[in-house]
Amino acid sequence: MSSNPYAWIEESLETIHCADWYRSVKTIYGRPGAIVNLEGQSLINFASNDYLGLAGDDRLIQAAIEATKELGTGSTGSRLLSGHRELHEKLESAIASLKQTEDALVFSSGYLANIGTISALVGRRDVIFSDQYNHSSLKNGAKLSGAKVIDYSHCNLADLETKLQQYRQQYRRCLIVSDSIFSMDGDLCPLPQLLSLAEAFDCMVLVDEAHATGVMGKTGAGCVEHFGCTGKELIQVGTLSKALGSLGGYVAGSATLIDFLRNRAPSWIYTTGLSPADTAAALAAIEIVQTDRDRRQQLWRNVNLLKQQLAGLNLLPSESPIICLGLATPAEALTLAKQLKERGIFAPAIRPPTVPTSRIRFSVMATHEPNQIQQLVISITSILAEDDKRWKSGE
Ligand code: PMP
Repeated sequence: MSSNPYAWIEESLETIHCADWYRSVKTIYGRPGAIVNLEGQSLINFASNDYLGLAGDDRLIQAAIEATKELGTGSTGSRLLSGHRELHEKLESAIASLKQTEDALVFSSGYLANIGTISALVGRRDVIFSDQYNHSSLKNGAKLSGAKVIDYSHCNLADLETKLQQYRQQYRRCLIVSDSIFSMDGDLCPLPQLLSLAEAFDCMVLVDEAHATGVMGKTGAGCVEHFGCTGKELIQVGTLSKALGSLGGYVAGSATLIDFLRNRAPSWIYTTGLSPADTAAALAAIEIVQTDRDRRQQLWRNVNLLKQQLAGLNLLPSESPIICLGLATPAEALTLAKQLKERGIFAPAIRPPTVPTSRIRFSVMATHEPNQIQQLVISITSILAEDDKRWKSGE
């Protein structure tokens, strides 16, 4: 046998290229912010999840430096062995206080929080109902759990109810899983109604607040707060890497849930604890979220300004800082992203297979200046004018 067992990898890559699904990384230089240096070009940044502009904030940087000096660069082991630090506990208390839950648990990323939590909560005798547009980490967590996974149409609770009626009784435990802000669309899960359905059918609910934490709700606690569901029994997961400007993930909920996950979530048990720098930066970010409400208000002023200025274009429904301009084909999305870049704007084309339809995704930051938003609007308008307004809705 002289065949090459790795040859298929190149062939597979070729298929990805042929389908126009190939993706490559782009290098960002310098600190993240409203302006970024992308491969030598200075661009206004509408491509980041750093909604509050904290990833380059001096206070987070200082906190990370001090923690590193005091505690070193790595946690050196899993939390259950040698990697547990007082700083982790402080961060977990801060998250629980922000979310108004009994306790919280910090994971090394939001992805790990989702796969670890879901696979700990349900197994082969159980069922998961999952919004069809859920994030990859929720979908993969569901797969990993071994539970039966039933997708329901995006935010369609009538469809969810029909499926609950049809399948719920055949399984032991049931978990309903949803993003709270859908990351590639910007719309919100109808959480209060989802919780009512869950109660009626005796289901647990896990909601992913990755894009909502620090952004939604009066105190920045997320969509749970935004919808007035604080204090209800549910499982909240999220990330420290978006509005909180650091790295890591978390689960917030009852003390019993957290105690259980410490004993049952493999992606928490068998991985190294979060680094002191990341932990301290996230802690500093939560303090800013809780004390500097004006930053969040500034974010929403910017969101409203951009939405107002783009009204009339084919925007996808959004109630968040994620604003998407729908386009007919992947090629149109790629061309528009390129044209925007030529005009000094960084906004990514998002296309199948990541999403069902192509779009340009703009994420707004609190630290965008009004003139930067204006520049985006002027750029889009002039590109559309040149292209005979073919992206204008209804035309
Ligand atoms: N959930 C959602 C909805 C996300 O958008 C992301 C990140 N893209 C994650 C989870 C994963 O978070 P992290 O980047 O911390 O792994």
